[in-house]
Amino acid sequence: MIEHEGTRVLVDAGLMDLHERFAPGTLDAIVLTHFHPDHVQGLFHLRWGRGAPIVVHAPPDSEGCADLYKHPGLLDFRRLAKFEPQRIGGLCFTPLPLVHSKPTFGYAVEADDGTRFAYLTDTLGLPPHTEAFLQAWQADGMAIDCSYPPQGAPPRGHNDWPMALAAIASVRPRRAWLTHIGHVLDAWILQTAPPLPEGVGVAGDGEVAVFARGREHCAT
Ligand SMILES: [Zn+2]
Ligand SMILES: [Zn+2]
Repeated sequence: MIEHEGTRVLVDAGLMDLHERFAPGTLDAIVLTHFHPDHVQGLFHLRWGRGAPIVVHAPPDSEGCADLYKHPGLLDFRRLAKFEPQRIGGLCFTPLPLVHSKPTFGYAVEADDGTRFAYLTDTLGLPPHTEAFLQAWQADGMAIDCSYPPQGAPPRGHNDWPMALAAIASVRPRRAWLTHIGHVLDAWILQTAPPLPEGVGVAGDGEVAVFARGREHCAT
């Protein structure tokens, strides 16, 4: 969830208890990275709620997931276009193409105060135009797909540990978080305690990062 002053935007909807976490009318929009179930499964019953429509911005994917397009209920799906910024309240989302098995966007999110945060999952590396955008953009914070420990063979669909760190080194955000952590990776981290570059951490459930005019601190 990304929040700036009065604006609250949920990025992806994989949790099954969204109706308990967010009272009706407290989200300005939902923004989807892609239509894999682990990112949209929370929409399947959220759609049957009562009240005002919920705007759901999504990448162009003619299939979506299961019958979400056919029976959207409360959900008001809107299609985003790559590199075309979408303003939502005090936040501006620029969709960045990623490399995955479905049409997938990461997002470069800029708040009205100039704070910049990029959310990049699911992806296997970064496409050249997305990488160049991020190198020029200079994010204050960035979260990126890191699903696997180092793989002997090239991984499929998701970054492994070295690929995620290589993308961070290329883009040079001020702070970075590894996310979409798989169970095997989680075990590998516990067993090996691998070193991480300064400013890079493994994201945890419930973690909150607060950015204020380019400075930020992290609370768990
Ligand atoms: Zn996926
Ligand atoms: Zn995923």
